[in-house]
Amino acid sequence: MTFPPLRPELAGIEPYGAPQLDVPVQLNVNENPYGPSEECVADIAASAAEAARTLNRYPDRELVALRAALASYLSGDVAGEIAPEQVWAANGSNEVMLQLLQAFGGPGRTALSFAPTYSMYPEYARDTMTAWVAGRREDDFSLDLDRARALVEDVRPHVVLLPSPNNPTGTALPPSAVDELCGAVGDSGIVVVDEAYGEFRRTGVPSALEQLPAHRNLVVTRTMSKAFAAAGLRLGYLAADPAICDAIRVVRLPYHLSAVTQATALAALRHAAELLGKVDELRAERDRTVDWLRDQGFEAADSDANFVLFGRFEDRHAVWKGLLDRGVLIRETGPDGWLRVSIGTGDEMIAFQKALMEVTT
Ligand code: PMP
Repeated sequence: MTFPPLRPELAGIEPYGAPQLDVPVQLNVNENPYGPSEECVADIAASAAEAARTLNRYPDRELVALRAALASYLSGDVAGEIAPEQVWAANGSNEVMLQLLQAFGGPGRTALSFAPTYSMYPEYARDTMTAWVAGRREDDFSLDLDRARALVEDVRPHVVLLPSPNNPTGTALPPSAVDELCGAVGDSGIVVVDEAYGEFRRTGVPSALEQLPAHRNLVVTRTMSKAFAAAGLRLGYLAADPAICDAIRVVRLPYHLSAVTQATALAALRHAAELLGKVDELRAERDRTVDWLRDQGFEAADSDANFVLFGRFEDRHAVWKGLLDRGVLIRETGPDGWLRVSIGTGDEMIAFQKALMEVTT
């Protein structure tokens, strides 16, 4: 018998995570490169101090103030109103999704997504003992809706995970895909549209939040880690039918969001305009990066996110390593031959371009 006495399917598995290396140009985990202003830092610090005065008490288990603030923030992104009871939050959208799998997946149940996609999805399934099925995306990383619907009808999944924009390809879904798959899944499952990168979508691409009134099995997840420039905060959230939020409340650990997290998130939301203030600049930098890569003769996937998947390379590891040797850390992920670069500041993107030219010519 080996020690420790792990579940056999976990034996020998490396923990998920990109290398955390101290290099000058960090373009590997799709963070927002712009930190908060001193005024914002001071307000967050004052709110955290206020929370510290009550640290002997457990925090609000139902996140009442935070759910209301998130609902009002989301209502600014859609034509209709999102109500506080439609919102739920946890420590990053990773935890939101794990809670969804705990409530709606589990032994005897199945989760489905379409590869290539976010590599944590099969891990949520594994950790909740949910069967995992991965369909395929087309060569341009879009979804063929007829094939996707046929797969849903065949597998009858309890949870469908649909990132839009998708990681690592940057591909956004049209509203018709959400309608089609919510219809195909019906009341026997939920469809989770993961909008971790939603705020970066190109003009004219609507958020799936707009479709909540049409589908009670639709869940839209968001995060403060990306456009909101608060990855260190660990705050993810969702909008859905209130019955779905109530179901999650059954599986969440009591007091899962600390008083400091709740206070910090509320303070950050008060500074939404500032924290989101670089999104347009990052979208423009992203479009410039796609154009530049194509001009140099590389392939670059169309992107609605704050990263670009590009290639293809015979030996992508050598390219990744060559960039790292020049102080530029990107991500070795996605289909064979491709690499992913997050969008940084203008200067960081110049450093990336320079290093890539040195490594590949
Ligand atoms: N969904 C997608 C598609 C992601 O790429 C990520 C982070 N890389 C997450 C969810 C989770 O982000 P967080 O837990 O920081 O909200």
